[in-house]
Amino acid sequence: MAYESLEVMITAEQIKEKIRELAEEISIDYKEKNPLLIGVLKGAVVFLSDLIREIDMPLEVDFMAVSSYGADTASSGIVRIQKDLDQSIKGKDVLIVEDIVDTGLTLSYLFQNLNSRQPNSINVVALLDKPDRRKVKFEADYCGFKIPDRFVIGYGLDFNENYRNLKDICILNT
Ligand code: 5GP
Repeated sequence: MAYESLEVMITAEQIKEKIRELAEEISIDYKEKNPLLIGVLKGAVVFLSDLIREIDMPLEVDFMAVSSYGADTASSGIVRIQKDLDQSIKGKDVLIVEDIVDTGLTLSYLFQNLNSRQPNSINVVALLDKPDRRKVKFEADYCGFKIPDRFVIGYGLDFNENYRNLKDICILNT
């Protein structure tokens, strides 16, 4: 199947370079801390798997799956945990790894939820950020690329569960 209607926004090379920069920053900030990186399924899987291989120190990995629900799924701000962590995060240095901050609703919920479990520290790294779409105040501590208000796919991000395997981040022209 050919992907004819795709427009590349961020190339695989640019992503690779940015991940090296983020990993360097994270490695400095978390030196000797043995952080727990929490990937938000499914979109952040590709980002997380590349990021951890650029971080040269001991770390742990866990996953959560969340979904928005309510009358208007996109804007309800109600988030349901579909898969929780396998472990307690009490006293741990937690780094949430997310694909994209859009309205900010998912991450602000997740941040509050995990923060209530008494970690030693909690931060967020997001590969992408669409600041124009924000509905609640939320800033990732580490951010890869700020992008305009376009729906993007690839590098873990899907449209109806497709396109997650693309190496570049693309705009889907429908
Ligand atoms: P928020 O709660 O910040 O509005 O949404 C976060 C979630 O919405 C992301 O984790 C992602 O799953 C989805 N999302 C937001 N913008 C995009 C986009 O441009 N493309 C894709 N594929 N998913 C998006």
